[in-house]
Amino acid sequence: PVFEKTALKQPKVLTRGLPASPGAATGQIVFFADDAAEWHAAGKRVVMVRIETSPEDLAGMAVAEGILTARGGMTSHAAVVARGMGKCCVSGAGALNIDYKARTVEVDGVLLKEGDYISLNGSTGEVYKDKVETKAAELSGDFAELMDLADKYTKLQVRTNADTPHDAAVARNFGAVGIGLCRTEHMFFEGEKIKAMREMILAENAEGRRKALAKILPYQQADFKGIFKAMEGCPVTVRLLDPPLHEFVPHDLKGQQEMADTMGVSLQYIQQRVEALCEHNPMLGHRGCRLGNTYPEITQMQTRAILGAALELKKEGVETHPEIMVPLTGILYEFKQQEEVIRAEAAQLFEEVGDSIDFKVGTMIEIPRAALTADRIASSAEFFSFGTNDLTQMTFGYSRDDIASFLPIYLEKKILKVDPFQVLDQNGVGQLVRMATEKGRAIRPDLKCGICGEHGGEPSSVKFCHKVGLNYVSCSPFRVPIARLAAAQAAIEG
Ligand code: PEP
Ligand code: MG
Repeated sequence: PVFEKTALKQPKVLTRGLPASPGAATGQIVFFADDAAEWHAAGKRVVMVRIETSPEDLAGMAVAEGILTARGGMTSHAAVVARGMGKCCVSGAGALNIDYKARTVEVDGVLLKEGDYISLNGSTGEVYKDKVETKAAELSGDFAELMDLADKYTKLQVRTNADTPHDAAVARNFGAVGIGLCRTEHMFFEGEKIKAMREMILAENAEGRRKALAKILPYQQADFKGIFKAMEGCPVTVRLLDPPLHEFVPHDLKGQQEMADTMGVSLQYIQQRVEALCEHNPMLGHRGCRLGNTYPEITQMQTRAILGAALELKKEGVETHPEIMVPLTGILYEFKQQEEVIRAEAAQLFEEVGDSIDFKVGTMIEIPRAALTADRIASSAEFFSFGTNDLTQMTFGYSRDDIASFLPIYLEKKILKVDPFQVLDQNGVGQLVRMATEKGRAIRPDLKCGICGEHGGEPSSVKFCHKVGLNYVSCSPFRVPIARLAAAQAAIEG
C-alpha cells in the first residue's frame, strides 16, 4: 500500500528509522505476535512494534499492516522477513523506548500505548503519530509493456527468495524464473512443527534428535512439494538449515513448561539446555553448515524431504529442478562432508523408491574465506550463490543486527556514502564476488553463479552483478520487477 496523497500532507514525524521495506502502513500499536493475531482476527489493523523481531514473531508479522523495530539493520530479521512478505517495515528506529511490561513506547517525550494509532513510511523510514490513510498500489498498463521490453534486452536472470508457495507464486507472476533462496528455517515456526523442532534441539543425543526429525520430515516434505509445484519447471535452490539453534527454543516459562511436559523431562532440564545454547555472537556461532556438520541427521532429513517431494511430483507429472545449497561454507571440507551426507542419503532414497531425479549440490559464498578459496570449493560445488548479507557483515566487521546504532552518524559524516547492507559495496565486497566467480569458473567453467543477499533487488547492485557475469540475481518477490528493469538497463549500458 501507499499513503493517500491528501492524507500525507502534514503528518507529524515522530521519529525516523531505516527504510527497511517500502510501502505505507497505518494501524493500532501491538507489541506481541499473539495480540497481533487476536486483534487482526477481530477486524483491527495493527502495527507490530518490537525492540527487534525473531522467528517467533512470524505469525504476528504476517497479519500486521507494518513492522517497526527499535534495533536492527537492513538485513535484520524484521527487514528481511518483511521484504519477503511485501510488508512495510521501518527498522532500527533507535529513539524508541519500548516497555513490553507496561505495553508502551516512548519517543522523545511522547508516550504511546498499546492500541494507539501509528503510521509507517517504509520508503523513507519516517514514523508518524496517529492514523494516515493508505490505499492499495496500482499497476498500470504500462507496467507489463515495460517488463516485456526489459525481457527483450536482459541477460541476467531474475529469481526470487521465497519460503512459501504463496510467495513463490507472487514472484512468478512478477516474472521470476526460479527460486534462488528458500530459507528452510522459515518453515518451522508454526504449531506442531515448532514443537518437533524444539524436541530435536533439546534432545541429548543423536538418537533423540533422529526421533524428533522423523516427526519433522513429513512437514518439510509437504512444504517443499508446495514450493516445487508453484515453481513447476523452474530451478529451486533450497538452503539447508542455517540459523543459530537457540532461536528455536522457548525463552518464556510457558513455552519451557510445555516442552518439559511434551518430552517428559523436568522444567530445570529445559532451562539448562536453553541456557547452554545461548551464544555471545550468534551470527558467528553454531549456525550454517556448522549445524549440518555437527548434526548430520538434520542434513539427512532435509535431503530426504527435498528429494522425496521432487520424486512424488515426478509421479504426478510435475517437472522439478532441485538445487541443494549448503550455507556458510568457509572451508572446502565443510562443504565436502555435507555433500557426502547429501549424496549418500539421496542414493539410499532412490534405491528405496526405485526411482531417481537429477539434482545439484552447491554452496553459498558468504564467508570471506570461501571467496578467497573459491577455486578449491568449486572443485566440489556445482553452483555458487553469494550471500552478500553475511559477506558484507564479515568483510566490514559490522553486525547485521546492530549497524543502526552508528550508521546514521557514519552517513552524516560521509564516512559511508550508503548503507552497505542495502547497496553492494563494489570496491570491497564486490571484489570478493568478482574474484570468487573468476576463481570458481577457472576450475569449473560452467559454474552457475548467483546472488541471494538483499542486494539482489537493489538496482546498482544488480548492474554490478551483470558486469561481473553472474547468471542470476535473486530477490524478494516484490522486488522482482525492479531487478528485471535494472538487469535490462545493465545489458543496454553494456
Ligand atoms: C546472506 O547472508 O546474504 C543470505 C542470503 O543468507 P541470510 O540472510 O539468511 O543469512
Ligand atoms: Mg547468510
